[in-house]
This record gives sequence, structure tokens and C-alpha cells, in this order.
Amino acid sequence: MASRKDLIQKLHQIDGRGYKAYKSVAGRYEYPIFTLFIDYVQGDPYASPSRLRVRVPQQRAAYPSQTYDNRSRRVGLESYLAIAFDHACRDESARRGSGKSGLIAIDAPGQQLIERNALNVTPEYVEARFVMGLPARGRKVLGHQAAEMLGDALPHIVAQSLFYENNDAPLLQRYVETNEDADALRAQLADRNLIAFIADGSILPRRSGIDDRPLSGSHVVPFQSPESLRVSFDLPNVGRVGGMGLPAGVTLIVGGGFHGKSTLLNALERGVYNHRPGDGRERVVTDHTAVKIRAEDGRRVAGVDISPFIDNLPFGQDTRAFSSDNASGSTSQAANIVEALAQGAQALLIDEDTAATNFMIRDRRMQALIAREKEPITPFIDRVQQLHRQRGVSTILVIGGSGDYFDVADHVIAMDTYVPRDVTQEAHAIGGDRQAEGGDTFGDIRARAPIPGSIDPSKGRRRVRVRTHGCHTIQFGTETIDLSAVEQLVDGSQTRAIAEALVHAWDHYIDGQCTVAQVIDRIMADVENEGLDTLSPFLRGDLAVFRPFELAAALNRLRTLEVE
Ligand code: ADP
Ligand code: MG
Repeated sequence: MASRKDLIQKLHQIDGRGYKAYKSVAGRYEYPIFTLFIDYVQGDPYASPSRLRVRVPQQRAAYPSQTYDNRSRRVGLESYLAIAFDHACRDESARRGSGKSGLIAIDAPGQQLIERNALNVTPEYVEARFVMGLPARGRKVLGHQAAEMLGDALPHIVAQSLFYENNDAPLLQRYVETNEDADALRAQLADRNLIAFIADGSILPRRSGIDDRPLSGSHVVPFQSPESLRVSFDLPNVGRVGGMGLPAGVTLIVGGGFHGKSTLLNALERGVYNHRPGDGRERVVTDHTAVKIRAEDGRRVAGVDISPFIDNLPFGQDTRAFSSDNASGSTSQAANIVEALAQGAQALLIDEDTAATNFMIRDRRMQALIAREKEPITPFIDRVQQLHRQRGVSTILVIGGSGDYFDVADHVIAMDTYVPRDVTQEAHAIGGDRQAEGGDTFGDIRARAPIPGSIDPSKGRRRVRVRTHGCHTIQFGTETIDLSAVEQLVDGSQTRAIAEALVHAWDHYIDGQCTVAQVIDRIMADVENEGLDTLSPFLRGDLAVFRPFELAAALNRLRTLEVE
């Protein structure tokens, strides 16, 4: 079997040769303390970097089994290790020639701890997957630099980050326990008839729209539950925690502008994921099926039954199978809701800042002026209670601009200088005079089956060509899927996995019979049973787990999609 020495020797030998000479180093090498796999060698110094893995046997890595003996703990440990490996890479990664020469990087998590395939801990080994820019000057191999990277820098990174004895044990333990507590908390919500929980002392505001780390400074107000909504939970590690429980039903978040309403809702949106220790949202959890809903004018809608919200369109357009290449604010918001319901959402999160006004409200005076028959929209206010009573779907709604919603709210929370108050009784005492419209039942939603021929990941001579740009764009064959309004997609590695999952769905499950929900459920089952690697035709380390809602969102936004 080839050793570290063989690899280093080979690298020195190919110094000065054409870049293609690197191809000969692909393979497996036994180092004294780990095994290195060079899985893929890049074609030139400017192309995507080479893909490598190291495996440290568990006998040597020596993680106590309590740090990974259930999924929650394991994901906490893997997240910690990916971050530790990433930090070690930053110290060793350097420019060593042209293009990506010298790069060493791993796909580490951001504030959300989401299971990813960059780091895998098993009872047998710890495996890190990473990329390297094999160094060149122009297109000539810099073999001595490569020998230094693979011979010295890499063992240094591995030694620093992947061995238990060299880790920051207390911090590692915090990752493990924080992640387990968050999962335990979320798992208890349903039994308590809650859809979300925010622990007292949580820090909700973020540094900026593009910086997801917690806001800091003396002006930051930690979260404090109103007495009437305070509940407590017993968690496996931290013990008892108290905070605000948001009950199932219809909850309004009201309050003046700039008093922290959207910040609260944003924290609830992210509460479907777990967070790093120190994030401030470690114990902010939301039902894992909660979906943020917003208006998204311009989106493509393919054969969606939006009739609960919109019917009698001018010129008799069918709203039981509504299609548009350029949906309006209200039709896009209706489609977003119906698609989420079809996928099993049990809670909807809506912020007036990003909702279509005519979809949300129609007040008494407008009812008096424009006859019901002349208004195709049944506003959300007339459906929100039915959603709960008839379909078990809760809604949390930020609304500072319309008191009509008091009539249909089970709970009203007022944000006052970032402090929530329960104002349910006061709000209900204020009488309204609005007439409900739109009938007594929400009604059924028609299922949709994607038509195979309407999905095509090919481009040019390639049968499959998909790529992603950041978190919110997928290049699917010749089509671009715009996910910028899919706000609970939070990690570019989720987007990469979703792009692969779309191809997988097209390859295996989309047959003209299976509904969108069935196709998505099968993909989710494959990922659950076989892991993320099942989505990709080659071994890689840059995928993260996604929810069915975000995968469905991508399929539903494919502009060529047609349904039966
Ligand atoms: P609203 O939606 O009520 O208009 P936002 O949630 O947008 O208000 O918050 C307004 C500003 O206040 C934001 O810049 C936000 O970062 C800040 N903020 C929100 N919550 C807190 C808090 N708990 N402590 C300090 N600043 C906060
Ligand atoms: Mg706001």
C-alpha cells in the first residue's frame, strides 16, 4: 500500500511538469496516523479544486462514545469538528502559486448546525472531506510546494483538529449538548400543543442582514417571556429552561414599527434549525414543519389549486389548476401557502413586511364599496381560523397595520421596545365590525403530478448539468431556478444538495403519476436511509441536509415545470 513517503516522492518527481501530471497522484495513502484519499484531481489550477478525504481510526481519534451515540449528539460533534478543521485550514491555507494553488478548505457550518457530509464520525473512524488547490505556476506543477502541503500542512491540520486529546474538550461538549437539547426541545413541542418556544435570555437580533451572528452591545435586550405564556421544559443536558411557548392556533405579533416584530419572526423561521453555542438562538425552536410564507411576484406557478384563496378571475381562468409565468403578489402568496400545505406544513409564518396587502386584508369599508362577487380574493383573514380548526395548521403573523385580525386571533402578543406582552384580552375587548367572507370551509386542495418531459437537466451534450450559485440560485440544465424568496434555505450546501436531489427525483421518481409530495417524500426517505451521498454521482463533501419544503420550493419554481 502506498505511504505518505511514496506520495511525497511522487510530488517532488513531477515538479515542473504539465498540470495533468497531478492526475497520477489520485489514490489512497497510509500516513502514520491517518489514511488520505485523493478522490479527484482538478484539471487545471483555475478549475474547481481537488477533492480529498482523511480518515482517522477511532482508536486513535479516541472520541468518547457519549459524544456521538445518538444522532443529535453526533451532529453536534461533527459540526464542532468541521469548524475546528476549518480553523486549522485557515492557518495553513495560503497562496502557493496561480489560481487556487495552496487553498485548503472544508465546508464548515455557519450559525445553523445542519447535518452535512463534510465531516463524518462513526464508531470506526472520523472522516473529514475537504478540497485542495494543488499548486502550480502558470500550468506547471509546483511539486515541492505540493509536497509541503500534503506532507506537512495537512498532517498538522489533522493533528490539530481531529484528535480528541487536541480538541477544546469543554467547547466540544457544549456543541454536543446544545445540539441534543435543541432537538429534545423541538421534539417536545407537539405534546405540549406548542408550535414554538423561545427561552428567556435568548438573543434574537442579528448583526446585519448579511451577518447572521448575534448583535452585541449594551443596547441588546435579551428575550423575556410574558408571564401568561411562560412554560418550562426539562432538557437532557442543561436541565430546566423557561421561556415563551407559542400555542397552536392563530397568533398575532403586533406593535409599533422598529419594536422587534420582524426580528422575533425571523428567529422563529430559523428555529426549524439548531444553532451553535453562543449564537443566542440555541433554545429558540419552532415546529420542524413551519414554513415562512411571503408574496413573491414574478414567480412561476405550475398548476396549483389556489381556489381556497382566489376564484372568479376575470376571463374565467381556472384557479383549481392555476398557472402563471409571472404571478402577482396575491397569487404567488396563495401558491406558496398551498404548496407548503401539500407538503405537510403544520405552521405558517407570515410577516406583513413581505406579504401582499390585498391577500391579507379586506376591511369593512372596502367590502361595502367593492361587492364580494367582484373580488376574486378571499383574504387570508377569512381562512386563517379554518386552517387551524379544519386542517390543524397554525399561523404566526406579524401585523402592525390591521386590527381586523384581532377577531380571528387566539393570541395577540405586542412587542414593546423588544419586550413581548400578552395583550390578547385587550385586543379581544376592542370590537370590530367586519363581516367574514368566503364560506365556512377551507376546502380540499387538488394534488399535482409533475410531467417528466417538462423537466430537463441537460445542457449541450451533457445529460445532466446542474450547478448552484450561493444559497439562492440553481442552474438546472438551461434553466435558472430563483430561490431568493425561499427564506428558510440558509446554507449553500443545502442548495447544492437540493440541486442534486432534483436530478435524483427526475431520474428515479417523477413518472407522471407520483404527486409532488410523493416524489419529495421518497427523496427525503432516501437521504434519511442512505445519507446525503446517495444524491450525488461522485464522492464529495459539500452537501447539507435540507427540508422537504425547500426541495419542493425548488421544483415548484422550475419555469418549465408542468403538472398533471
Ligand atoms: P419591526 O419589525 O417591529 O419594525 P424589527 O424587528 O425590524 O422591528 O427591529 C427593528 C430594529 O431593532 C432592528 O434593527 C433590530 O436589529 C433591532 N432589534 C430587534 N430586537 C432587538 C433586541 N432585542 N435588542 C436590540 N435591538 C433589537
Ligand atoms: Mg417588521
